[in-house]
Amino acid sequence: MRLKQSFFFRALPLICGVLFSMETVVQKTFAEGNLVSRKDVLLLNRVRLKSVWEGKAEVPANLSILILAGHADSQGISGAGTAGEAVALKGAKPMDASISDELFWNLLIRDAVVQLGLEQGLNIRAYEPGIRNIDDGNHPLTNWSVGARHARAGGYPLEIHFDSYGEYGFGSGLIPAISTKLNVVDESLALAFGRYPMFFRGGLGAPRREIRVLEIGKLEGELESKLRDPNSRQNTIDAIAQKVVTALVGAIRGKPLP
Ligand SMILES: [Zn+2]
Repeated sequence: MRLKQSFFFRALPLICGVLFSMETVVQKTFAEGNLVSRKDVLLLNRVRLKSVWEGKAEVPANLSILILAGHADSQGISGAGTAGEAVALKGAKPMDASISDELFWNLLIRDAVVQLGLEQGLNIRAYEPGIRNIDDGNHPLTNWSVGARHARAGGYPLEIHFDSYGEYGFGSGLIPAISTKLNVVDESLALAFGRYPMFFRGGLGAPRREIRVLEIGKLEGELESKLRDPNSRQNTIDAIAQKVVTALVGAIRGKPLP
């Protein structure tokens, strides 16, 4: 008995040390977890569909990136984009009565990504069709036509979207081009936002033309409120743009992904 006791007391500092360091590890991990969730709290609803593709092809350092706003050429017809939960279900007024709320945000994110990308030294620009309703998808000014030409010339066309709310949406993620040559930029965006299957919905019009579709997130809940609230709008747009540009820069400059 005495022997056991004395062993216990001699071992006490060791036991305490182990417990203390375990606690430190737990606290540290918890703090890091909090940090990650705070940073990414708006984009937690990632797509959860089975997808197996991997983007491996290298890209040149001066890869020409074209950022398009989804539905910028298709207002007033069936492909106008989601109205968002606030307008469709909660009686809020549209951000701009002449366009869908999705397009309203797609345009702002498009421009923020380009501005930030230029500041980070990327070869990046926006495409603005200038006409909000072009019935013929193959008209030379549509996102589809301009994006397809950009891809054929060796560039990287990326169309910004927000996904539908509730049961109509799948979540954030990259819908890749229907291509055997998916590259490290595709991979980087998929790691940052989520990964849609290559033949999502049987193959959409944009991916068939090698235009990548980036679903930022479902237009609902906290993400939509933070965008709608004038006090948090700019920070939210900046955070989303930063996430896109970080993924682009990481892939193009070969930096390890966060
Ligand atoms: Zn869309």
